[in-house]
Amino acid sequence: MAEPSDEDPPPQPGQRLCRRCRAPLDLDDDVCRACGERNPVPMPWWGPLAGAAMLALIAYFLVDFTPLIDMINRWLKW
Ligand SMILES: [Zn+2]
Repeated sequence: MAEPSDEDPPPQPGQRLCRRCRAPLDLDDDVCRACGERNPVPMPWWGPLAGAAMLALIAYFLVDFTPLIDMINRWLKW
């Protein structure tokens, strides 16, 4: 009785496949281990937005905006 081989498990949903040889790739693998083809991780459209938001958040915590806010308040009271 022939058991199905365990060497080629069916790809799970969300599994990335090599675009040349369809071999499954590890989550953070850019280069296929079977054929060496580069498989760049596709950047979602919100990738740059998320990066900018992260930078803004870090700046918000690192930068003291109090003098800037005081200055704006003085302009508004003028
Ligand atoms: Zn490949």
